[in-house]
Order: sequence, then structure tokens, then C-alpha cells
Amino acid sequence: MKEILERILKFRDERGWKKFHKPKELAASIAIEVGELLEVFQWLSEEEVKKLLEENEGFRERLREEIADILIYTLILAHETGIEPREAILRKIEVNRRKYPVNEYYGVARMDLLEGRKVE
Ligand SMILES: [Mg+2]
Repeated sequence: MKEILERILKFRDERGWKKFHKPKELAASIAIEVGELLEVFQWLSEEEVKKLLEENEGFRERLREEIADILIYTLILAHETGIEPREAILRKIEVNRRKYPVNEYYGVARMDLLEGRKVE
């Protein structure tokens, strides 16, 4: 993670782009890249996505690039705001572990839709 961040920052700083990387601008950039990620899947059925992932390297490359864009901007945002990504992820996993106990949430994505129902 550290080596990757160093390479990202070197790339950025060689181009004099640090001045553009304010937290709000980086958050907006992440949202824009998430939009581009959604565009990759736009109008495709689950079956079509599965087939493209298996057979179409161009599709996989588009997906790879958008995932990379999101991760790159996210790592820069974390760096610029003094958030350590590994620690942030581990802390959030722990928060989620407590918030969603396995015995209540196993296999359930929308608990709000099941209010009042007992989950087996
Ligand atoms: Mg992109």
C-alpha cells in the first residue's frame, strides 16, 4: 500500500497537480469515477456481465481502469486528510461486525424490508 501511494504521489507531483487535490475535489473525483464505473455496467443484464467478464478482455480492461481510478483517488484523499487506509478499513470492518451480527444478518441485504420477520 505504501509503495503504491508513493508511486501515485510521484506521478501527481511530477505534474504539479497537488494544488488541485483538495479533499472536496478528491471526494467529487471519486464520485465521478464511480459514475464511470456504473457506466461500464449500464443496461447490461447480470448474465451479460458474467459473459463479458469471462470472454471480453476489453470489458475487463474498462472495469479494471475504473476500479483503479476509484482506488487511486481514494488513496490520495486518505493521504491528504491524514487517514491511514489500512487502519480505516480494519476499524470499519469491526464497526460493521458489531452492527451486523451474523445470526441476524446472514444472507440478508435489506433488513429494513424484513422488519418484524425472524431470519432463520
Ligand atoms: Mg475513469
